[in-house]
Amino acid sequence: MTVRSPVLDFDVVVAGGGPAGATAAGLLAEHGHSVLIVERESIPRLHVGESLIPAANEVLDRLGMIDQMLASPFPKKYSVQFITESGRESEPFYFDGFESTGLGHTWQVVRSDFDRMLVDNARRLGATVMSQTKLRVPHGQAGSFRELELQASDGPPIRVSNRVFVDATGQSALIGSTLGLKRNDPALKNATVWTHFRGARRDSGRDAGATIILHSRDMKSWFWYIPLPDNIVSVGCTGRLDYMFQRGNSSAEEIFERELQRCESLQTRLATAERVEPYRATKDFSYRCRPGSGDGWVMIGDAYGFIDPVYSSGAFLALKSGEMAADSIHESLITGDVSAKTLGRWQPTYDAGVENFRQLVYAFYDMDFNFGRFLTQFPEHRGGITDILVGNVFKAGLEAIFHDIAIAPSA
Ligand SMILES: Cc1cc2nc3c(=O)[nH]c(=O)nc-3n(C[C@H](O)[C@H](O)[C@H](O)COP(=O)(O)OP(=O)(O)OC[C@H]3O[C@@H](n4cnc5c(N)ncnc54)[C@H](O)[C@@H]3O)c2cc1C
Repeated sequence: MTVRSPVLDFDVVVAGGGPAGATAAGLLAEHGHSVLIVERESIPRLHVGESLIPAANEVLDRLGMIDQMLASPFPKKYSVQFITESGRESEPFYFDGFESTGLGHTWQVVRSDFDRMLVDNARRLGATVMSQTKLRVPHGQAGSFRELELQASDGPPIRVSNRVFVDATGQSALIGSTLGLKRNDPALKNATVWTHFRGARRDSGRDAGATIILHSRDMKSWFWYIPLPDNIVSVGCTGRLDYMFQRGNSSAEEIFERELQRCESLQTRLATAERVEPYRATKDFSYRCRPGSGDGWVMIGDAYGFIDPVYSSGAFLALKSGEMAADSIHESLITGDVSAKTLGRWQPTYDAGVENFRQLVYAFYDMDFNFGRFLTQFPEHRGGITDILVGNVFKAGLEAIFHDIAIAPSA
């Protein structure tokens, strides 16, 4: 006799309880749809990606979370600043006048806490959450995700059916991997090593929570410097994978120390600091999965695509794609049209915004390009570049920046 596992049934099943999944699930539950979030880790869980950009505030506002953020211990981030390989500090790019909720800042977050707040909020809005449960696609079911399998850390598998399946599994990219839809960007094959320090230098006043991006000598790598609560600073170093791991078996610690020796501005900032976390390493290849939707399913957040961490765009894009997808899914569920076209109707607009980040990332890694020199030559683009840095990437006319970057004289 075959024992059939019980079947759960939801309007929407969301795989992944990161910012993308929690946003989509929360907004759909708020509309009255039955929504299940399945997260394979326990919540809270560790995650890289601690610096928000101001456009994230709009989504947090829609989720009803701004008061919670204001009451949190997360440092307020008013600006981003760049420090060249020779130690020259750029004027900070302040967000005043570019941030639409009127706060003038966003936050540096401890991701385990921030992501838990988002999931709790989704639950408050009516979503069901199953953590420590992995979502699997049953064998032989290519192309359809209507019926899926849940495997909790203990207990038998459970079948779950849905009208719409949302892939928010982050870099695991469940559908992209299952259907072979993931394409790496060959220009952005990078790796990062990172850790946390206590007691590192913090700037004063409204610069205390700024993200600082520091180049190492020869611009072979760059560091992020992200102030967090409890006098902690997150420091990560990113460079081309083949450069970072040039000696094959170097440890994350060896790579971090090697690059730190090549960045005097950072040495000064860390002079009195004590490391309080292990060194961690990750490959952060940029990629996209296409198509991003099919009949009855849609991808969001990193499961749909990822671009280099230099402009801290990832969590915002996760929140934004979760919001945009939720609006399309809501319409689909009301009209009964869960076709690929309707579920993915937000994606062309979203892709155009992501393209603005991507072009600015290419400029950052172009050894012949210098932002300071470019802004001296084209001061009219300072506003547009700040728009991209704050996440106003869906604004019309930003392509003019990339036109002028292409014609700007090189070093
Ligand atoms: C080195 C580095 C630095 C970064 N720095 C920044 C930064 O400063 N600021 C910023 O905004 N972004 C940053 N990012 C990007 C940011 O971390 C991501 O873009 C963001 O977390 C994406 O959110 P998400 O919800 O799409 O995916 P995730 O946050 O990755 O969430 C996906 C979830 O899905 C779960 N999952 C996976 N598979 C399954 C499954 N089969 N079943 C159930 N659950 C599953 C995972 O456990 C995970 O919790 C950085 C990224 C890297 C690599």
